Amino acid sequence: MQGTRRHVTILGATGSIGASTLDVIERNSEAFAVTALAAHRQWRALLEQVARFRPAYAALLDREAARELERAVKRDGLPTRVLGGPEGLCEVATLAAADTVVAGIVGGAGLAPTLAAARAGKRILLANKETLVLAGDVFMRAVRDHGATLLPIDSEHNAIFQCLPPRDGTGRPRGVRRILLTASGGPFRTLPVAELARVTPEQACAHPRWRMGRKVSVDSATMMNKGLEMIEARWLFDLEPAEIEVVIHPESIVHSLVEYDDGSMLAQLGNPDMRTPIAHALAWPERVDAGVARLDLAEIGALNFSAPDPERFPCLELARAALAAGGSAPAILNAANEVAVASFLERSLSFDGIARVCAEALARSPARPIATLDDALEADALGRSLARELLSRDALHA
Ligand code: MG
Repeated sequence: MQGTRRHVTILGATGSIGASTLDVIERNSEAFAVTALAAHRQWRALLEQVARFRPAYAALLDREAARELERAVKRDGLPTRVLGGPEGLCEVATLAAADTVVAGIVGGAGLAPTLAAARAGKRILLANKETLVLAGDVFMRAVRDHGATLLPIDSEHNAIFQCLPPRDGTGRPRGVRRILLTASGGPFRTLPVAELARVTPEQACAHPRWRMGRKVSVDSATMMNKGLEMIEARWLFDLEPAEIEVVIHPESIVHSLVEYDDGSMLAQLGNPDMRTPIAHALAWPERVDAGVARLDLAEIGALNFSAPDPERFPCLELARAALAAGGSAPAILNAANEVAVASFLERSLSFDGIARVCAEALARSPARPIATLDDALEADALGRSLARELLSRDALHA
C-alpha cells in the first residue's frame, strides 16, 4: 500500500472483529501499526495481544480487569499505558496518535467511545450495531460535523459501500434506485413454519455458513439481524426505508447489491470471511492482502436467491415498522429483542415468542425523538424493562 502508515486503535480487540483486524494488520505491518487495544474485561487475552503488538495504550471497560492488566504489563516490562472504565475507552478512541478507530465492541458499551471517535474526526471502521440502531441520527451528525470518515465493516454494509460511487463521509448516493441486503436465511429457511414454535436453542445456533456467537446466531435464525442491518443501512447511506430490500441468498457469496436508475445492479462477492471487509476498510481506497481464500465461482457453480417469507420471518417486518416509525422505535426493538433472545436461550421463551415480545414492546412505546446519547440509552433501558415485564406474563411463555 502506498502513502503513510495508518495508526489504528481497536475497540473490541479480543472479539472476533478484533482478532480478524489484528490478523490483517500483521500481514501488512508496513501499512498499519497498532496504537491502542481496548476490550471489555478479558485482560489475559488482551495481555497476549499487547505483548504481540506493543501498543502505546490498552484499555479495559472493567476497572478491576484493567488493574490486573496493568500489573501484568508492568511485570512483563511492556511499553503500554493501561486505562480503565468507560472514560478509558473514550480516551483511546480519541488519541491524537491514532488516525483510525475500529469500533468492534458489541452492545451499548460501544456507543460512547464510537461517538467520541466521530467527534474527534477519526476514520471509523464501524462494526458496532448499536451506534446506528440506537443513535443513528446523533452519530451521523457527529460524523458530518467533525469531518470523520465512516467505513462500514459489517459484510453487507461494506459490500454496499464498495458498490456505491466513490465518496467519503456522508451524503446521499446519486442514481441509486435501491439496495439489496443479502441474508443466508439461517438454519430454518426451509423448515415448515408450523414447526418454528418448537425449535431449540441448539438448532437455532447451528448456522449453515457463518460461525457466530449464540445471540447473533439466533438473530440470524429470526432474521432480526437483517432487520437491524436495514436500520443501519438507512443511516449509513441516507436511504428511505422503501429503498432498502432484503433477498435470501443461502450461499453467502454475494454480500449485498446496489441497483441503479439505469437498470445496472452491482454486487460484491467473496468467500464469507470477515477479513475481506476489514482489509477493504483498513486500506481504503487502496487494497491489501487479507489472507482470504480466493473465490472459485466454477467450484460453487450456482448462486440462489429468493424473497423472504414474511410469515416465517416476522422480525423483518417489525424492523421495517420500527424504521418507518423512527425516533426511539429501533432502540426499543433492539432492546426487546436482546431480552427475548436471552430468554429463548435460557429455554424460558419459545422461538416464535421472540417476535411476539418485540411486537408487543414496540406497540406499547410510541416513538420518541432521539437527540442525544442519553435519549438513546434511555430508550434502550425502556425497551429492556418492557420486554422483561412482558416475559413475566404467562401468555408469552413457551
Ligand atoms: Mg452482517
